[in-house]
Amino acid sequence: MDKMVNNKRARGRSAGAEVPARPSREEAEAAVRTLIRWTGDDPDREGLLATPARVVRAYEEWFAGYNDDPREYLKRTFEETGGYDEVVVLRDIRFESHCEHHMAPIIGRVHIGYIPRNRVVGISKLARLVEVFSRRLQIQEKMTAEIASCLDAVLKPHGVAVVTEATHQCMTTRGVHKTGVSMVTSRMLGVFRDHAETRQEFLAAIGMRGVAHSNGNG
Ligand SMILES: [Zn+2]
Repeated sequence: MDKMVNNKRARGRSAGAEVPARPSREEAEAAVRTLIRWTGDDPDREGLLATPARVVRAYEEWFAGYNDDPREYLKRTFEETGGYDEVVVLRDIRFESHCEHHMAPIIGRVHIGYIPRNRVVGISKLARLVEVFSRRLQIQEKMTAEIASCLDAVLKPHGVAVVTEATHQCMTTRGVHKTGVSMVTSRMLGVFRDHAETRQEFLAAIGMRGVAHSNGNG
């Protein structure tokens, strides 16, 4: 698992960018058969016959985030603030993602804060935003930055704060086998980056006062 992230990778592929043409379902299922053979098992034994089709369907669910452009989605759903200009915090948005290095699950929670300028979004929309980015191949640092910059670009708030805590199964079930370790990443923009007091208010609201510190680079 990478602890460091450079700016190029943090920006990553933006939503809607060109990707190579998708293989057919049959090609995807054939690839799963190959992986089953790679494990040393026989894809033609009874218990595994329907597995390639199941895996491909599971992938459709786990990676559904490629079908959505969260910016367009948020643009359609904002509401006027009615003058509210204090910190809005949404804690403990559970997510499941997959690391782009091993395609192993990343499971954790995202906390989002922002100070509206003249637009707010509903709680379900923020949860949906997290879902769209998490249902892609990810690294945690990039996902944290993507959520923050998407909210920043669409809502144009006074500031955005995103903190993500997660465990990486590529780290707990293989390699170094470190269980009970979670990784924390953060992205602070606008007033959350510039004003320590505002940042601390957010960190206190999510129960992390003084734990996460960010200079805005992740
Ligand atoms: Zn990994």
